[in-house]
Amino acid sequence: MGDADGTGELRFEGIAVAPGIARASALVHHVEEEEIPCRKIAPEAIPAEIARFEAALIATRAELLEMQQKIAEAIGTSDASIFDAHLLVVEDRTLIDEVLRSVETEHHNVEFAFNLIAERYCKSLSEIDDPYLRERVVDIEDVSRRVIGHLLGRNGSRLHDHDEPHIIIAHNLTPSDTALLNRALVLGFGTEVGSKTSHTAIMARSLDIPAIVGLHEITAHIAPGDPLLIDGYRGILIARPSAETLREYEVYERQKDLVEERLELIRDTTSTTADGINITLSANIELPAEMDDVIEQGAEGVGLYRSEFLFLNRDEPPTEDEQYEHYRIVAERCAPHSVIIRTLDIGGDKNAAGLDLPPEDNPFLGCRAIRLCLEHPEIFKPQLRAILRASAHGSVRMMYPMISGLSEYRQANAVLEECKAELRAEGRVFNEALEVGVMIEVPSAALAADLLAREVKFFSIGTNDLIQYSIAVDRVNERIAHLYKPTHPAILRLIRMVVDAARANGIWTGVCGEMAGDVVLTPLLLGLGIDELSTSPAVVPRVKKAIQSVSLKECQALAEKALQTHTSSEILQLCVDLARSRYDELVS
Ligand code: PEP
Ligand code: MG
Repeated sequence: MGDADGTGELRFEGIAVAPGIARASALVHHVEEEEIPCRKIAPEAIPAEIARFEAALIATRAELLEMQQKIAEAIGTSDASIFDAHLLVVEDRTLIDEVLRSVETEHHNVEFAFNLIAERYCKSLSEIDDPYLRERVVDIEDVSRRVIGHLLGRNGSRLHDHDEPHIIIAHNLTPSDTALLNRALVLGFGTEVGSKTSHTAIMARSLDIPAIVGLHEITAHIAPGDPLLIDGYRGILIARPSAETLREYEVYERQKDLVEERLELIRDTTSTTADGINITLSANIELPAEMDDVIEQGAEGVGLYRSEFLFLNRDEPPTEDEQYEHYRIVAERCAPHSVIIRTLDIGGDKNAAGLDLPPEDNPFLGCRAIRLCLEHPEIFKPQLRAILRASAHGSVRMMYPMISGLSEYRQANAVLEECKAELRAEGRVFNEALEVGVMIEVPSAALAADLLAREVKFFSIGTNDLIQYSIAVDRVNERIAHLYKPTHPAILRLIRMVVDAARANGIWTGVCGEMAGDVVLTPLLLGLGIDELSTSPAVVPRVKKAIQSVSLKECQALAEKALQTHTSSEILQLCVDLARSRYDELVS
């Protein structure tokens, strides 16, 4: 941080996670609880206090209805159950009457009375051994935060309630928060924690919102309304930018715009290397709404559809029919290309309140993804049935996440076979030859790739997790983000091992982790023998340009040299040198 030129300008450096430059005023989002004042209310002021309470309830109700609408639009569903439970809390007569009694008899100010009573409700409910009632505790806590926020006039910092363009500054944003950001109004965000491969960062790239994470203590330095400039290419956040900085950025932005314009020209070309080798270049999506970007950016279909995003931000999991509708739309819009639907990957940094799962101490090593699905056929089977049904409407493939070895793959396929038998008996159509692959993101799967390759139809390497599990670096912890090394020699060896196993068995290998979108690493991945790259839609044109700028032959030479090189920084330097010599304008 520094006021370099004495103009009041402050610069902060963090980890650049989503490219782009934007200017807007700051919206500082605090989630920490502030103290709730306790006052005695004079008897003559009680009617006014009650009126304040009623106004706060009305405002909260309006806010919830608006949120409900926004969420329904964002996740493409009109399911009215979202936030219904919250609405019931603001309308709960027993709770409201108890608050009024406390104001009238104890002469407590209403926020204090409301907080006390809501806390008592939560405590009693959480002691009852019933998952449904325990879940209601979260609803009451959320609603009471909102009501108290209105009473204290603190709701100015709510995330989704602003009509003016802004840049969000927060300690953290969850993937669910990020999925709901309105890209027309949120021009960027900066958080104190997070890393490049957290799902929050991935979502920012999908939404094409410039973002920086790892901005330590930024919320203490930025005031609401401060003019900000966010540079998501270099990870620089500037508060109160000086006239000179703004001029510099105008020039920088023009250069970047020129690059973008040139990239538009190659939109309809194929991703073919200079020596004529075709690489499939597809896109990662979280929600069907992103299909517009997939098509606009010229991707060849969807290489990773993170199906779990449909399960976030709602109180009930989606039904089979609702899932089917989503998958069908994506399959149809992908034609003539294919979509690879990744089965549910809940856990880690993605939680689905609607699934009512117990918290874990070590969620990334816990009951995540395929493990959760195999334990819960009532969640897994509707999804498999929905995917099978959608396979009748286009080129649909499916893959399982977090596979650690062959037996898990076989168990998942046994459930798939049950679903197929049910659908046949019901006379429903589906593609009997649906291709099923696995994500290689657990080191044991990479090491046992030769065993898997005999039975699966394809491999898609999830480098985000493969790197975190191989190097033992939590992918969302900014304190150790510097240890997260895609070019670690061990990662190169694992990728090569997977490709060799795939080739020996006549199947293809893709990469769908964030490494696939880093143009500096494109030649390395091609040289290691990757057949498909899948990346966030906004990055597709850059990766295409990188592919077109190199020959497979030189990529192979790079990979061979890299495999003989001993440290990640030396390997990275080899990649940077080649990238700079071929497409310097894309290397930020
Ligand atoms: C990965 O791990 O690389 C991957 C693509 O899956 P996710 O980021 O959703 O965990
Ligand atoms: Mg993963």
